[in-house]
Amino acid sequence: MTAGSFSFLNILFCGKIPLMGPKKNYQSELDKIIKKINIEQPPTLMIHACCAPCSSYCLEYLCKYFKITVYYYNPNISPSEEYRKRVDEEKRLIAALNSEIIWGERQGHPIGIREGNYEPSRFYEAVRGFENLGEGSERCFRCFELRLRKTAEAMGEGYDYFTTTLTISPLKNAEKLNEIGEKIAEEYDLNWLPSDFKKKEGYKRSIELSEKYGLYRQDYCGCTFSKFEREADKARKELQNYEETT
Ligand code: SF4
Repeated sequence: MTAGSFSFLNILFCGKIPLMGPKKNYQSELDKIIKKINIEQPPTLMIHACCAPCSSYCLEYLCKYFKITVYYYNPNISPSEEYRKRVDEEKRLIAALNSEIIWGERQGHPIGIREGNYEPSRFYEAVRGFENLGEGSERCFRCFELRLRKTAEAMGEGYDYFTTTLTISPLKNAEKLNEIGEKIAEEYDLNWLPSDFKKKEGYKRSIELSEKYGLYRQDYCGCTFSKFEREADKARKELQNYEETT
């Protein structure tokens, strides 16, 4: 760091320059855990899933090593017809993967699914006061925590690990998701499975798999605020295009 950049940071942070360590690589943490797995005794995993496209790669990848139960708890999704559409698509994907596993076309352990309650009021309660902050903000961190906490509570005693498919999205903060997961794991005395599924071309593979299974890909994250933000964004772009071409 040069003297100039040091004094700029000093002003920016009021004399308290935060100590920034190297970023954790959550994919390599996951690699280390997978490496130690005894294939004869696959560990059990409960994975929170947000939607079928994001699940596709995560399930394809993890079912080779873990006995998985998907936990579908997403009270953030609005409206309720959209929720139904996404949960039905998740079930359809799992049925397709399982039939390939059973017929030996795919290597892995059959995948189970449990659906949590659809309780939008819990989501609105969790994000109250943060509704207008936009995607990627504290609103989302609270939304992550609600869903991961519920997954941890749903686990009971039969699972070795829990995690979420959410880290596959380039729009989601994987570091924050892992921090929240680790915090909840500590509180409930559970094991968090670290991940950053977008690494190793995970996101790209999820697009290929979505095409293969003809999965419905929504164009907004899930909540009514993100739907509104996406529509406003589209309208802004349309207006910009119109102005540029007239
Ligand atoms: S944008 Fe997505 S992650 Fe953020 S609050 Fe809405 S549904 Fe939750």
